[in-house]
Amino acid sequence: MIDVLISGAGPAGCVAGIVLARAGACVLMLDRARFPRPKLCGDSLNPGTLALLGRLGLSRFAERRGLPADGMIVTGERGARIESRYPQGVHGRFISRGDLDWWLVQQAIAAGVEFEDNVRVEGALFGGRRGGQDVAGVRVRQAGRNARAIPARLTIAAEGRHSALAFGLGLARHPAGPRRWAVGGYYERVCGMSSLGEMHVRAGRYFGLAPLPGGMTNVCLVTPDRAALRGQRDLGDLLAAEIGRDPILGPRFAGALAVTCPIALGPLAVDSTAAGMPGLLLAGDAAGFIDPMTGDGMYFAVRGGELAAESALLALAGDTRSPHEWLAGQRAREFRWKQRFNRSIRLLVSGPRAVAMASRVATVCPASIRQIVRIAGDVGRGSQRHLRGSSPVQRGARFVTETRTF
Ligand SMILES: Cc1cc2nc3c(=O)[nH]c(=O)nc-3n(C[C@H](O)[C@H](O)[C@H](O)COP(=O)(O)OP(=O)(O)OC[C@H]3O[C@@H](n4cnc5c(N)ncnc54)[C@H](O)[C@@H]3O)c2cc1C
Repeated sequence: MIDVLISGAGPAGCVAGIVLARAGACVLMLDRARFPRPKLCGDSLNPGTLALLGRLGLSRFAERRGLPADGMIVTGERGARIESRYPQGVHGRFISRGDLDWWLVQQAIAAGVEFEDNVRVEGALFGGRRGGQDVAGVRVRQAGRNARAIPARLTIAAEGRHSALAFGLGLARHPAGPRRWAVGGYYERVCGMSSLGEMHVRAGRYFGLAPLPGGMTNVCLVTPDRAALRGQRDLGDLLAAEIGRDPILGPRFAGALAVTCPIALGPLAVDSTAAGMPGLLLAGDAAGFIDPMTGDGMYFAVRGGELAAESALLALAGDTRSPHEWLAGQRAREFRWKQRFNRSIRLLVSGPRAVAMASRVATVCPASIRQIVRIAGDVGRGSQRHLRGSSPVQRGARFVTETRTF
């Protein structure tokens, strides 16, 4: 019998799998994609995420292969511009998510996780003591094969922003507003890139830019205009046209070359009503997503994956019968404040006027903007010191018996 089945092999799923396998649990991780796969993301790991990965012994790929991320530039219209750096000696990393995610999958396999790609999780199996109402595994489908059921003691839903399990069980939904979609791709020969991430806020939409190794630039456009994405046969033309008519970005992209076909996805925001239910735990975007603007989704994914694994280990050791409630408490304690901050930033930088106002504030009181960039970047979070004593795994508790029977 599988101890923990993980649906989705993004960062949340991989980190959960690694923590569980290192503790001796029998883990099966499934993903609907064929790996390695591309991933639409801003490709920025903020300092807090890098510290989290470092604490888990998982930062060396990003440290060696990524570019240092030193802070942010935010622009609005009519020349409004804010530039803020992380404190001295503090950096994040710019790294392609396709590469990072593939490396994390390999780390999970090396830790003992059994991994199957190209397998789509379609829904939950039910069973258990409470009148068969507990999640007791999943139903999956694989191209060219019959649907099959995979039972497991516990399941972690880590399928990202449209989790088949979380949405199917009514634990998550896309809120009515704000509704935004993203389109992103990679370019070469973009002028003026530096070691700072860039956010260019325009009426009703924004662009994110990040420099990547090999002279590449990641470009994402976030827009509420779904019709534009739907009606556009070629997303590359749409992205090029949007960039071309921007007075700041247009000239910088004059000699640039698109090197990939852009990907689009949305709606972006996900609200969740719980951290799981009996037999099921949520991790990463499946447990809620606010907006890419603050560039910290990976922090929630990595730490959320770790917390889901810890609550599963507590349950497997018989220390709790309600791991989803334990997880809800931990997530509220660690994430609630930052999620409120992110909602405020989403409002604050919701248009160029707000950016113009923020740029005036930055001139009068640069410390306030530095503080916002520090908070968004999770500076000082994620390290051993910050999280010390917060979890049973870090306190050295053992959950798994030598014989792996629970
Ligand atoms: C435009 C954009 C830019 C962003 N930029 C940044 C940034 O710069 N920095 C940052 O920290 N965060 C950023 N984020 C957020 C970040 O990408 C996410 O928070 C992060 O990827 C969440 O990780 P995850 O593991 O929860 O989900 P994902 O990374 O989405 O992984 C989910 C996995 O589940 C698989 N899956 C889906 N459905 C199924 C199914 N039914 N069965 C099996 N497998 C399934 C998928 O194939 C995928 O591999 C951005 C997000 C967007 C949309």
